[in-house]
Amino acid sequence: MTIQFIDLKAQLARIKPQMHSAILAAVDAGQYIMGPQVAEFEKQLSAFSGARHTVSCANGTDALALPLLAWGVGPGDAVFCPSFTYVATAEILPWCGASAVFVDIRPDTYNMDPASLEAAIEGVKREGKLRPAVVIAVDLFGQPADYPSISSVAKKHGLKLISDSAQGFGCTLQGKHPIQWADAVTTSFFPAKPLGCYGDGGAVQTNDSALAEVMDSLRVHGKATRKDVEAAKFEHDPKYLNHRIGMNSRLDTLQAAVLLEKLKIFPSEIEARMRIARRYNEGLEGVVSQVPSLIHGAVSVWAQYTIEVPDRSGLAAHLKDKGVPTAVYYPVPIHKQSAYKHFPAGAGGLAVTEAKADRVISLPMHPYLDEATQDEIIEAIRAHNRRK
Ligand SMILES: *Cc1c(COP(=O)(O)O)cnc(C)c1O
Repeated sequence: MTIQFIDLKAQLARIKPQMHSAILAAVDAGQYIMGPQVAEFEKQLSAFSGARHTVSCANGTDALALPLLAWGVGPGDAVFCPSFTYVATAEILPWCGASAVFVDIRPDTYNMDPASLEAAIEGVKREGKLRPAVVIAVDLFGQPADYPSISSVAKKHGLKLISDSAQGFGCTLQGKHPIQWADAVTTSFFPAKPLGCYGDGGAVQTNDSALAEVMDSLRVHGKATRKDVEAAKFEHDPKYLNHRIGMNSRLDTLQAAVLLEKLKIFPSEIEARMRIARRYNEGLEGVVSQVPSLIHGAVSVWAQYTIEVPDRSGLAAHLKDKGVPTAVYYPVPIHKQSAYKHFPAGAGGLAVTEAKADRVISLPMHPYLDEATQDEIIEAIRAHNRRK
């Protein structure tokens, strides 16, 4: 049997009858856009993480754009985000005309370094060209960013805080979800994410009712909100009263039906991910240059299990030989990508980001990785190191 990097079929095997009937029920009911499953899923996702509102949308990239558009972030605004992340974290900034300012990461967690954030904000203020507006922290590889420190830096400078939790949705710090610190938490339901659907999907959570209402409007072409209609005395469908420039970004009813089934088993999957990661750490500590470490008090959802080695390509080739798939997240940091080169690095520099990009490699990771397969992977890595 070949080893899967992420085994979605094993997950389906666990819940196949329920999943098939949930999908068929949605097909039979025929409410393909904004059917009742969408509102039900939003309600359950809010309950899951203790957020007051969930606004689902078409993908995790739109989820990041929605709060920025709702806040009116635009030209002249600086948005501080890591460069060591998936490109979508920064991609939405030029969409709205804002400028990305890249912030370095911590060498142990790969997440935003609060000291580098502080330096970047001070630098932008000193220079006086851009207005510091928003911080986007990323829960890279599944673990929460240092929200207590990051949110206090953001508050001190009067900036909004977004948690890009596309890889980390479900993670907690001291038992609390990122929504306890962030103005908006965004996630993606891309199939390979810890909570994924069978296509594209995304969501934004917030405790701010006014923000939720505007984002709900924006995802349906800027349709009038209840408040807008009250003010305008409009007797037609409020969908046709378009108060703001929006977009088309809804979660499909079918995907909501899929997610309702997956949400039921998500807590047990998070436990399995924690157990499997701990076992990897025990088997690889001292064998590779660095095994992952979590910020104190964190539960990670382990979107990736990422180690560091000196000869990454050698290890990848050796593992491929043994039938073990690997991946590199991320080989080129965003500030080194041609389309993003003109955005400034923060005053703290990006030394850690650049060093890590050459060393990281991710191993198979999913809740259904059995011990025998995991031992095979660990043994293959040990064997490679013995050869040298
Ligand atoms: C996957 C991902 C996104 C984007 O999600 P899509 O649903 O693919 O648009 C954003 N940020 C991070 C960190 C991601 O990993």
